[in-house]
Amino acid sequence: SAVPLGGSVIPLVNKLQDIFAQLGSQSTIELPQVAVVGSQSSGKSSVLEALVGRDFLPRGNDICTRRPLVLQLLQTKTDEEYGEFLHLPGKRFYDFSEIRREIQAQTDKEAGGNKVTPANSDLANSDALQIAGIADPDGYRTIGIITKLDIMDRGTDARNLLLGKVIPLRLGYVGVVNRSQEDIMFNRSIKDALVAEEKFFRSRPVYNGLADRCGVPQLAKKLNQILVQHIKAILPGLKSRISSALVSVAKEHASYGEITESKAGQGALLLNILSKYSEAFSSMVEGKNEEMSTS
Ligand code: GDP
Ligand code: MG
Repeated sequence: SAVPLGGSVIPLVNKLQDIFAQLGSQSTIELPQVAVVGSQSSGKSSVLEALVGRDFLPRGNDICTRRPLVLQLLQTKTDEEYGEFLHLPGKRFYDFSEIRREIQAQTDKEAGGNKVTPANSDLANSDALQIAGIADPDGYRTIGIITKLDIMDRGTDARNLLLGKVIPLRLGYVGVVNRSQEDIMFNRSIKDALVAEEKFFRSRPVYNGLADRCGVPQLAKKLNQILVQHIKAILPGLKSRISSALVSVAKEHASYGEITESKAGQGALLLNILSKYSEAFSSMVEGKNEEMSTS
C-alpha cells in the first residue's frame, strides 16, 4: 500500500519550493497542499508521521509544533533518505531524531520556550470541523480523521462517527490508532505501530465491515485519490497558464540579453520546471491511474 504518487513528483515539488522561496510570494501558481486541523494533542503530528512513515515531529501531551517550517524529504543517488530544511540550505539530516530536535529548537526560539505563546486555545475549545468548514464550506476538501480509537471509554466505539451518522462529511471519515505516549517513550517504530493498528481493527467486531475507513493505510489511499482527482481538475487550467506565462517571460528574458542571474532568468527557469511538473502529473494521471486505483 505504498503511495505511488510521491515517487515521481516529490523531487519536482521540492525544487519548486526552493524556487518559490527565492522569488518570494510573487507567484500566482498554487500547488496542492494539505492542512491538518485539530485541537492540541489530538494526534495531528502522530498522523502526519504515520503517513510519512518517519519519526520527525515533536510529539507529546504538552509539546506542540507551532512554527511554520518547510522540511523536504530527499534521497541520495544510493536511495538513502535525508531531510533538509528551507532555513538551513545544504545541511543534510540523515538522523531523523535530529530533525525533531531542530523543529523543537526553532519552536523554542520563536515562542521563547514552552510558556510564552499559549497554544491556540480557540482551536482547543472549538470544533476542528467548524474551522475546516470556514476554509471549505462545501466540504469537497475535508476529510475527518478520528484518532485514539484505542483509548475510548469502555463500552463506547466510533462506529457511528465513522459512518457519518453524527456529523456527516462529504468525503467521510477514517479512524486511526497511532502510538501512545508510552510507545514513544519506548521508541516503538511506526512499522510496529501499523501492525498493532491492523491487529486492533481486526480484533474489534464493531469495526467489521468498515475496513475501507479504518487505519492509516486507508487514510493514505483516500488522500491519494483526492489528490489525483484534484490534479485532474486543475491540470488543464494550470497547463495553459504556465505556457502563456512561459511565452511572456521568455520574451522578457530575451529582451534583457544574456544576463542569466536576473529575476527574469530565474522566472524562466521556474516556469520550465513548472511545465515539467505539470507534464509529470499529466502522464501520471493519464498513464498510471490504474496502478493507483488498485494499490
Ligand atoms: P498534536 O498536538 O495534535 O500534534 O498531537 P500529538 O501527535 O503530539 O499527540 C499527542 C499525544 O497523544 C502523544 O502523546 C501521542 O503519543 C498520543 N496519541 C496520538 N494519537 C494516539 C492514538 O491514536 N492512540 C493513543 N493511545 N495515543 C495517541
Ligand atoms: Mg503536534
